[in-house]
Amino acid sequence: LMATETAHPTLRAAVSGLPSYVPGRRSAGADIAALASNESHYEPLPAAAAAVAEAAGRMNRYPDMAAVELRERIAGHLAVTAGEIAVGPGSVGVLQQIITGLCDAGDEVIFAWRSFEAYPILVELAGARPVRVPLDDAEGHDLDAMAAAVTERTKVILLCTPNNPTGVPISHDRIAAFLRSVRSDILVVIDEAYVEYAEAGSGPDSLTLYREYPNVCILRTFSKAYGLAGLRVGYAVATPDIAEGLRRTAIPFAVTALAQKAAVASLDATGEMQARVAVVQKERSRLAARLEAQGWTLQPSQGNFLWIRADDDLTARLVAAFDQADILVRAYQGDGIRITVAEPASNDRVLHVMEAVLAAHA
Ligand code: PMP
Repeated sequence: LMATETAHPTLRAAVSGLPSYVPGRRSAGADIAALASNESHYEPLPAAAAAVAEAAGRMNRYPDMAAVELRERIAGHLAVTAGEIAVGPGSVGVLQQIITGLCDAGDEVIFAWRSFEAYPILVELAGARPVRVPLDDAEGHDLDAMAAAVTERTKVILLCTPNNPTGVPISHDRIAAFLRSVRSDILVVIDEAYVEYAEAGSGPDSLTLYREYPNVCILRTFSKAYGLAGLRVGYAVATPDIAEGLRRTAIPFAVTALAQKAAVASLDATGEMQARVAVVQKERSRLAARLEAQGWTLQPSQGNFLWIRADDDLTARLVAAFDQADILVRAYQGDGIRITVAEPASNDRVLHVMEAVLAAHA
């Protein structure tokens, strides 16, 4: 060391290599349509808002670290036991517990690509190795290729259905066949963040798969259809052993009392949530049909979003057009854009922009 140089703390290489989070434009103005994050455009469910207001009076106290009431209520909802539930600060928080709980340095985690952007980040952070398997031509998981990617280092496989960002589900039979073909010591996570938006029968009956294959772990969230994205609460369903291990990897008190109470109230309001979902599904069909009539090609989506595949140039032109129109969408440079389905007025604005981009191209 030269005299002028002082030693300084350094980040682990795995951390230095991670992409920096660049926050998108927030929906500050009234005219900005926030269609970039697959949130619910509805106001919070009244019962959830009331539960938060009630719980706020006790926020000088720590929350229930074991989240007993919430875990029991989720368990009742799914007909499993509370011992099979682990909750966390968003399902991304639970997923981090899964990866760090199962992977040693150098272990491998297989997932489709593209899929949820947090997957490679959580894997790298754990010192494990992300193994990306390209989606098939229909924007869905290529389960044969994923099975072929398994090595003796594979610890976890992530299946996202319906897939973010493409909206394509994985059928029950295909996942069942996949589970028969992979080693039973590999944890197969079925990430169902958008399951409430999927038509019955389009994706797996994950609880049935879980009961048949103990190496299945189901991941769900209150952030999307239940509309609690800002409160951060999600959960995993796994065998009591794994679920208990996940609870041990949790940051103490990570799921706030407000989030726990809101989630319990939300489960009680499941019917109301489903009525909202039905409206979004109708808008999803309308939007997709209108886009196809305009001349766009898209795969049927089972999420609350649509995926438009686009090369570099088209992605750039779409981004510019949406930006100009004060509509926030998610761009994946070179791959395409993802647009959240919201209320009819915002969806109409999307149709307007998409039509104009096509017209300018012709
Ligand atoms: N899984 C998928 C597939 C997602 O798209 C998201 C949110 N973008 C999450 C998990 C995490 O959501 P949350 O942490 O809010 O539960």
